[in-house]
Amino acid sequence: MSLGIRGRFVVGFDGVEHRIIRDGVIVVEGNRIKHVGKGYDDKVDRWIDAPTGLVMPGLINTHIHAATAPKDKGFIDDTGARHFYMSSLGENLTALGQAMRGPDYEVFSKFSIAECLKSGNTTIVEIGMMHNLGAEKTVEIIDQLGIRATESPNVADGVWDRGQGADLRTKWIGLEAGLKKLDEAEKFVKTYTGACGGRLMPAIYGDTVDKCSAELQKAIRAKANELKVPVTIHAGQWVVEFNNMIRMYRRTPIEFLSDTGLLGPDLIVGHGWAIAGHPLVSYPPVDGGDLAILAKSGATVSHDPLVFAKRGNKMHSHTAYLKAGVNVSIGTDTVPQDLLNEMRIASYTSKLADWDCHSGASRDIFNSATLGGAKGLGRKDLGRLAPGALADIAIVDMETFNGVPYRDPIKNLINSSQRADVKWVIVDGEVVVEEGKLTTINERKLLKDVQKAGEDIWARIPEHHYLKQTADEVSPLAFRLWEEK
Ligand SMILES: [Zn+2]
Repeated sequence: MSLGIRGRFVVGFDGVEHRIIRDGVIVVEGNRIKHVGKGYDDKVDRWIDAPTGLVMPGLINTHIHAATAPKDKGFIDDTGARHFYMSSLGENLTALGQAMRGPDYEVFSKFSIAECLKSGNTTIVEIGMMHNLGAEKTVEIIDQLGIRATESPNVADGVWDRGQGADLRTKWIGLEAGLKKLDEAEKFVKTYTGACGGRLMPAIYGDTVDKCSAELQKAIRAKANELKVPVTIHAGQWVVEFNNMIRMYRRTPIEFLSDTGLLGPDLIVGHGWAIAGHPLVSYPPVDGGDLAILAKSGATVSHDPLVFAKRGNKMHSHTAYLKAGVNVSIGTDTVPQDLLNEMRIASYTSKLADWDCHSGASRDIFNSATLGGAKGLGRKDLGRLAPGALADIAIVDMETFNGVPYRDPIKNLINSSQRADVKWVIVDGEVVVEEGKLTTINERKLLKDVQKAGEDIWARIPEHHYLKQTADEVSPLAFRLWEEK
């Protein structure tokens, strides 16, 4: 089966960088791209015409929690724990998470993945579905929705333990527990490599830098080298973690990852903003600091700006990391799972951090969401439209209220396009979004199921909050209700 796409603009990859082809053509044969250029003379089985469309590589999202994120909507907004430097980790999110039940994870996973696809995001590094749904159901959902995804159970030998007041520390549960999880991850890799027609990419996930001991991090490194799969871990994600690492080891989270050897070209660091030199941690960098360590290691930092912007915080900065030589990708973390929105915020938070319009430039942000993510996953056949690359493609209509007038489609995409402008999405040669609608699931039923799950979860919060607070007490409504006295 061959598929041809004619677009007003095609983002072609010339072997070194993305280039804009005006009135370009892409031809797909099976699940790979066969041709990229100005024209095509041979026949194809099917043509998609996008005379006002931007045809671009499917975007790569290097950090998302699909199974749990929708519960955060309207809940973590304008809310956070002051004593945790505005983070909701370890407190409100814990209560919310404990209020979830089995079927909620399934409906939320489907919804999050559907959101990704509708924003032109074709590959995800998904963290949490395995933990909450188990391997079989996780693979079944990825197979059904048609996305490309890495998955792994979370590997850890520590848990966050709440002591007196806001004293959140690591409680070690024993290396054996961590190694058991690592065995589970290895089994998943061996059982499911090649599943979903190759769209499933089993990986190894360390949970967080402060929940994985040095011994466990070394074991994860050895196993990743043996199995040759991507690795990810949360590190530099909040002030509490940064301070705990200094307190426990006298090392920053990044220094510690470097000491254990886990830091390497195959590691994606989830968030990675809390580093030496960041204003919120006020810890001086030495000899280029964490940025120099990250750059030398070849590791990737997943910049996931929205959730931190909501807490009044930002990475310092997307462009500063790139200038230091760090590979930076982009992830959505939580709702909305809208990579176009996340790219815009990545651009603006970089400009805000640097007080500079040149920072977070559209070109750099687009590269991070495509080539940067592909590099983090060790894949030269993703994040680009070139002969031989996998056929993961998104088409964004430019003749919309967001798109016109268009001269530079990439600048318009970063600064103005929205998810509703994404008309076609193709993953592995299969059309999964057609004329703006998902082909793999009933959208209307999905929305109803998600609303019901959200209402049920919020109602259960007082059972799980450490102060027995209700949803409206934890996260007050923006305006008082009419019937209130
Ligand atoms: Zn995360």
